[in-house]
Amino acid sequence: MISIIIPFYNESESLPILTDQLIDVMNKIKKEYEIILIDDGSTDAYASKLIIKSEELKIIKHKKKLGKGRALKTGLENSKGDIIVFMDADLQDDPKDIRNFLKKIDEGHDFVNGIRANRQESIIVKTYSKIASWFLRTFLHSPFTDINCGFKAFKKEVLNDFSFYGNNFRFFPLAAYLSGNKVSEIAVINNKRKFGKTKFGKSKIFIGILDTLTAYFLFKFSEKPLHFFGIIGAILFLVGFLVSLYLAIERIFFGVLLYQRPLLQLGILLIIIGIQVVMTGIIGELVVFLNKKTNN
Ligand code: UDP
Ligand code: MG
Repeated sequence: MISIIIPFYNESESLPILTDQLIDVMNKIKKEYEIILIDDGSTDAYASKLIIKSEELKIIKHKKKLGKGRALKTGLENSKGDIIVFMDADLQDDPKDIRNFLKKIDEGHDFVNGIRANRQESIIVKTYSKIASWFLRTFLHSPFTDINCGFKAFKKEVLNDFSFYGNNFRFFPLAAYLSGNKVSEIAVINNKRKFGKTKFGKSKIFIGILDTLTAYFLFKFSEKPLHFFGIIGAILFLVGFLVSLYLAIERIFFGVLLYQRPLLQLGILLIIIGIQVVMTGIIGELVVFLNKKTNN
């Protein structure tokens, strides 16, 4: 069974068109399916336009806007399929591509992500998105060309090693890959938004940068935080130590009085910060250790 999970927030114009197209495509595929629409606290009157014509169509509501990540999670919790498709409600993704996704899964892939070759976005967002994908490819060996593409399909078992929280749906593909799933990509159509505006606004890029850094940190260091904090702390400490050593040598052998050396403050500051950063790493290690112990 295929579960198509679609979060939406104020997409009343797009929804009826999308559901018609989807039902049409899915009926041709001739496999059991369900379409789960998650209303992420919409404030418009979409219900008046959306006539539920199909038994396969379900709507689940959030009482208020909880974000796309939570909406996807709600959809998953209410899904029955062994193959899951994620897509947007704004008609930017084309239901016709679902067939290609399913073909790839039939060929034996566990996770298939879209590539929006002709992405309809501002040049700034597109450039940022390319840089983020490049960063993750270079530093985390991500195999994805367009990691931010929301259109994707995967086998349900991929979720065994992943739990959705906050904004981490953005690096779900990478998590799937890093936990050993067979991943693949296909080109998808990306239409211009016909109705309404993007729901993420201008903060998208800034939040995107934070998400990319979070992904980098979590995948690389979540099991060994001291490797991250330890190196940074040690470098700070070492610089502080060398500065202080230099001042001490001047004081002892050349009689330069310390009150004449403002550099002393920097030396002390770096030593203290260095120790604190290393300590943060040690506490991180303790958290990981205790967490493992309680989970086993
Ligand atoms: N969305 C949502 N909750 C949110 C933000 C977005 O359910 O808090 C939905 C939105 O209605 C759309 C999808 O997530 O179906 C993608 O959002 P959008 O098209 O605004 O993102 P963009 O394509 O601009 O990245
Ligand atoms: Mg969109």
